[in-house]
Amino acid sequence: MAVSIRDSVVEVDVAIIGAGPAGSTLAALLAKRGHAVLLIDRDTFPRDKVCGEFLSYDALPVLERMGVDLRGASAIDRCRIVSRRRTYEFPFPNEARGISRMLFDDLLYRTALANGAVALEGEPAIGDHRALTCNGVEIRSKVIAGAWGRWGRFDQQLSRAFIRDRTHRSFGFKRHYRGRHEPGVIELYSFARGYLGVNDVEDGITNICGLVHGDRLRQHRGKWESFVEEIRREEQPLDALYGRFAPAQQSFLSSDPVIFRARSAVEQGVFMVGDASGVIDPLTGNGMAMAIQSALLAAPHIEKALHDRGAAEDAYRRAHAAMFAPRIAWSRSVARLLSHPAALDQALRFARTPAIGGFLLRRTRAAREQIERMADRWFV
Ligand SMILES: Cc1cc2nc3c(=O)[nH]c(=O)nc-3n(C[C@H](O)[C@H](O)[C@H](O)COP(=O)(O)OP(=O)(O)OC[C@H]3O[C@@H](n4cnc5c(N)ncnc54)[C@H](O)[C@@H]3O)c2cc1C
Repeated sequence: MAVSIRDSVVEVDVAIIGAGPAGSTLAALLAKRGHAVLLIDRDTFPRDKVCGEFLSYDALPVLERMGVDLRGASAIDRCRIVSRRRTYEFPFPNEARGISRMLFDDLLYRTALANGAVALEGEPAIGDHRALTCNGVEIRSKVIAGAWGRWGRFDQQLSRAFIRDRTHRSFGFKRHYRGRHEPGVIELYSFARGYLGVNDVEDGITNICGLVHGDRLRQHRGKWESFVEEIRREEQPLDALYGRFAPAQQSFLSSDPVIFRARSAVEQGVFMVGDASGVIDPLTGNGMAMAIQSALLAAPHIEKALHDRGAAEDAYRRAHAAMFAPRIAWSRSVARLLSHPAALDQALRFARTPAIGGFLLRRTRAAREQIERMADRWFV
C-alpha cells in the first residue's frame, strides 16, 4: 500500500511512535511483510543518546536477518567487574558488540525505510479513540505501536502508574573518551547508589556510561563534572579509570528519569515495544536487545490485531510477561549488589569461578538460539 505524507489524511496499517531500536525494528519487520507502516520520531537521525552502547549477542540474530551491517562495531567477548580490592572476569557465550547510538540507531532507522516504512518527523498527538495527528496530518491507523522509550508525555496521557513514582528515579550519564581500554572487554565499576560501564565502540572511541540514583545528584545541580569528581574521590578504581582517558565529547549527556516499575505491554489499545513495554536495568547491557526482541515478539501479534484486536492484545501481554518479566527481576537484584561497593567486594571474595558470572548473565537475557528460532519463524 502506498503511503504519502503530503496528503492531509494518511491511512496506514500500523503507526509506530518512536524510531529507536524497538520502533525501527518493528517498522522493518512489518513493512517487509507488505504492511503499510508509518514510523514517527521527533528527532532527526542520526542522533546521540545516553547508553552504554553495549549491544548484547542475543540481539544479533534479528539484525543479521534484517541485513544490518555491524562491521564497524567493536567485538566484546567478556565482562570484568572491578571492585575496591578485587576484579572478577567471565566470558560471554557469544560475541557482543560495542557501537555508538549515533551510528546504530541510524543504521536501524535506514533499514526500516529501506524495507518500505515511511518516516514522519514530528511529535504526534493521540486523541480520543486512538486518533493520531502529527504536523497537521491526520493519521488513520489500524494499530498504534508505542516505541517512545521509557519516559514520555504519552505515559502521562495514558495515566501509566510508574509516572507517579518520584522516589525511585535514577539518571544516566555518558561521555565518549580517547584513551587506553583493553579491547574485547566490558568493565563494570561500582559506587554508592550507582555503577558505570566502560567499553569500546567504533573508531577507537571508548564509552563510559553510568547510572545513579537521583538523590546523589541534588548538591551537584546538574553538573556531571562535579559528580564524577566526587565518585573519583570516593572510589580509587574509578579515579584510576578516568585518569586513563581524555574526553572525546564536549560535555556529558544525561538521560530522562529511569524508573523500573512494571508496565503493561498493551495500554488502552496501544501495543508497547522496547522500554515503553518494560525497562531492564542498564547494568545488563540488554535494553537494546530487549527492544529488538520485543519488536520481534510483537510483530505477529500486531499482524493478528489488524483483524482481531482483543485476542491479539491478550496474547501479546502474556507472551511479553513470559519472555521479559523474569529477566527484568534478575537485573534489579544484580544491580542492587553493584550499587554497594563494600558488599560487592565481599561478594567477589566468594566468586571463584567464571561460572557464577555466566549464570547471572544468562538470567538477564535470551539464549542466542532462542532468538534465532523466533527470527527464522518470521523471516521464512
Ligand atoms: C544509563 C543507561 C545505560 C544504558 N546502557 C545500555 C547498554 O549498554 N546496552 C543496551 O542494550 N541498553 C542500554 N540501555 C538501555 C537502552 O538505552 C534502552 O533499553 C533502549 O534505548 C530502548 O530502545 P527503545 O527503542 O525502546 O527506546 P529509545 O531508544 O529510547 O527510543 C525512543 C525513540 O522515541 C522517540 N520519541 C520519544 N517520545 C516521542 C514523542 N512524543 N514523539 C515522537 N517520538 C518520540 C525518541 O526520540 C527516540 O528516538 C541503557 C540505558 C541507560 C539509561
